[in-house]
Amino acid sequence: MKDIGIDLGTANVVIYLKGKGIILNEPSVVAIDTDSHRVLAVGKEANEMLGRTPGKVKAIRPMKDGVIADFEVTEEMLSHFLKKAMGKMILKPRILICCPSNITQVEKNAIREAAERIGARKIFLEEEPKVAAVGAGLDISKPSGNMVIDIGGGTTDIAILSLGGIVTSDSIRIAGDAFDNDINKFMKEKYKLLIGERTSEEIKKEIGCVYKNMKKEKMEVKGRDMITGLPKTVTVTSQEIEEALHDDVMEIIRATKAVLEKTPPELSADIVDKGIILTGGGALIEGFPQLFQEQLKVPVFIADSPLTCVAEGTGILLENIELIDR
Ligand code: ADP
Ligand code: MG
Repeated sequence: MKDIGIDLGTANVVIYLKGKGIILNEPSVVAIDTDSHRVLAVGKEANEMLGRTPGKVKAIRPMKDGVIADFEVTEEMLSHFLKKAMGKMILKPRILICCPSNITQVEKNAIREAAERIGARKIFLEEEPKVAAVGAGLDISKPSGNMVIDIGGGTTDIAILSLGGIVTSDSIRIAGDAFDNDINKFMKEKYKLLIGERTSEEIKKEIGCVYKNMKKEKMEVKGRDMITGLPKTVTVTSQEIEEALHDDVMEIIRATKAVLEKTPPELSADIVDKGIILTGGGALIEGFPQLFQEQLKVPVFIADSPLTCVAEGTGILLENIELIDR
C-alpha cells in the first residue's frame, strides 16, 4: 500500500513515501506563460527562472504567504510533483497533507479537492506544528506541554501542544521571505544597491545572523547601482545583516511571548523543563537558539533536520495511522 506524506510549504514541497523516505524535495515555485496561462516549469527548474524571466514568463510561488494565493496553480504544482515522485506507481494512495496552521476552511477544502483529483483514496490534513513536533522526535501524545516554533518561508508558526493537539498557537507572516526583503531593503538604503530576490536569500544563508557579535563573516554582493545604473560590488558583514533582520526577528520573539502568556501554567512549567524546539529553514540562520534562550529564559534546541522535519513527521504519522485516522 502506497501511503504518501506531503509537506506543502510556502517555500518548499517535500514528499515522503512510506517505507522509503523522502522522495522529492523542491521549491514551491511555478513558471507560467502569462499569455496562455500555461505552466512552463515547476519546482527547481522554475526556481532558476525567478527574477530572470522574459516579459511573458512569470515565476510565482502559489503558497507564498502561507495561504493559497492561487488555487489552480497550487493544484497543478501538487499534481506535477506527485507524478514526478511516484511515476506510474501512483495507485490510489492515502495522502497525508500538512498545511500551514492559519489556512481557512475554504483553503483546506481546496487542498483536499486537489488531492482527490490526483486520485487519492483517502486524504488526511494535519496542521504543520503538530507534524513538525512529531518529526522533531517529540512525543506529543502525553498530557505534557511541548513548544514548537517553525520558521518557514512565508510564515512562522508558534504552537504549544499537549495530548496530540494544539493548545495555543499563532502564525505570523514574518519568516524567511521577510528576512530576504529586509536584506534587500538594507542594501538599497545603505549602499544604493539593487539586488534580486535570490541574491538576498544567498546573503541570508551565507552570512546571516540574528544574535549580536556571534558571526563575523563578510560577503561580496553584486547588483545594480541605483544611481549610475551600472553593475556594482559591495562587501557586507554578518553584523550588518543582524541589524537588517533585527526588527522582524524581534516581532517573532514578541509573538512567541504572547503565545506563552496565553498558555496554561502547568504546560508552561513543562516548557521550562523541556525547552522549545525550532524547525523550518529559517531556524538555520545562526543565532536563533541563543536569541530565543536569552529572551525567553528557557532552553532552546534546533531540530535535527529543520527543512525536512515536517516530511519526516508525516512518515512517522503514516506508520502510526491510528493517530490520524479517527
Ligand atoms: P516552508 O515550510 O514555508 O516551505 P521551509 O521550512 O522549507 O519553509 O524554509 C524555507 C526558508 O528557509 C526560506 O526562506 C529559506 O531561505 C530559508 N533557509 C533555508 N536554508 C537556510 C539556511 N541555511 N540559512 C538560513 N535560511 C535558510
Ligand atoms: Mg514548513
